[in-house]
Amino acid sequence: MRVIVVGSGVVGASCAYTARCLGAEVLLTDAALPGQATAAGAGIVCPWSSSLADNPVWYSFACAAARYYPRLVAELADLGETGLGYRQVGGLVLAASPEQQEQIRQQFLARRDGTPAAPEIGEVAALTGAEARALFPPLHSGHAAVLVGGAWRVDGRLLAASMARAAAIKGAVITASRAELVCRDGRAVGVRLKGVLVEADAVVAATGAWTTSFLEPAGVTVPVTPQRGQIVHLSVEPADTSGWPVVLPTATSHYLLAFGGSRVVAGATRETGAGFDYRVTPGGLSEVLEQALAVAPGLAAGTYLETRVGFRPMGPDGLPLLGPVPGVDGLVVATGLGPTGLTMGPHAGAIAARVALGEQPGIDLAPVNPLRAASAPPAAVPA
Ligand SMILES: Cc1cc2nc3c(=O)[nH]c(=O)nc-3n(C[C@H](O)[C@H](O)[C@H](O)COP(=O)(O)OP(=O)(O)OC[C@H]3O[C@@H](n4cnc5c(N)ncnc54)[C@H](O)[C@@H]3O)c2cc1C
Repeated sequence: MRVIVVGSGVVGASCAYTARCLGAEVLLTDAALPGQATAAGAGIVCPWSSSLADNPVWYSFACAAARYYPRLVAELADLGETGLGYRQVGGLVLAASPEQQEQIRQQFLARRDGTPAAPEIGEVAALTGAEARALFPPLHSGHAAVLVGGAWRVDGRLLAASMARAAAIKGAVITASRAELVCRDGRAVGVRLKGVLVEADAVVAATGAWTTSFLEPAGVTVPVTPQRGQIVHLSVEPADTSGWPVVLPTATSHYLLAFGGSRVVAGATRETGAGFDYRVTPGGLSEVLEQALAVAPGLAAGTYLETRVGFRPMGPDGLPLLGPVPGVDGLVVATGLGPTGLTMGPHAGAIAARVALGEQPGIDLAPVNPLRAASAPPAAVPA
């Protein structure tokens, strides 16, 4: 069985890795389009704090995705792939008042111990402003917080590159070309790479925000649009930031996190309607820095490093667009993960691989049918 995976962001790289592990002959190709979401993504994994957690389909998918991570990380380590920027650093959910702090604490406890249970949430504890600041020193001292011990961060660039390398180690072929979908008689027969038709039994569109144009030859429209995110990287040298937690304010969708090497990441704009405009704008930069400094004034003396720009693949209702395309045999779509694709991408890619190979996906695909209309109005997401 031959599978072509188009797009090597977090979804496509995971799909190629899983498909190869399941025994398929795999070709993974990517056009290196500017604005890959995976390369810009912050890397927070804390699905239990999302406002989408009230949607049972989303929540169940996101929790399964979180549970898959440790296994994937261990498998990659067995192949020598250990540099993922992955670390369980915990999260600080900031509260504006003691009442809000208690309400947030109770909500996490209910999600951890209720039905369905999510023991991965780990420790849940109320922290004073001083205790929160001891964990993330640039924070304003007035922020009481709830610590969520199970949250982690990962470097999307490193993770996707590792999964692609792992697929290659296992025998997948990797190319750097733009792919054009080729369909004949209601079936995806392969892709054209540099004008040459490469045939396959299944084609997986892991093409992120570009999925609509990739699928044009199939005559179908998947409702995915780009949402621009601008995200700023700072250095707070010589601080050892490697264990600093993720910071999730409740009053805004902006957030902070840190990696090793004194690197702090402040994110991010959510610009719906900006199209594929791959630019850093003064407005975007000022919004991100203003929000970051309001929460963590200690960052003001840091050093500006860079701003990354990525296009989140936004579906109509926050749920993934995932599964076979009705009416087009051999075509599988895996996108629409919006602002939580680094959380859900490895799981979504693995499901897409199983679908491409004709295996049981392990979930009910009906609610995530890639050709569905919106099942609910687009939801706001805090993380
Ligand atoms: C600023 C920002 C912050 C984020 N923070 C987080 C976070 O903290 N936590 C979280 O869980 N998620 C986060 N996300 C969301 C997450 O990054 C995305 O949902 C996820 O990376 C999407 O992955 P993908 O593989 O679907 O798409 P992408 O990573 O965009 O990959 C799609 C790939 O397809 C390729 N491609 C497209 N068309 C073709 C073609 N015709 N031929 C060949 N290749 C093609 C492109 O070159 C691209 O590499 C963030 C996103 C942004 C932008």
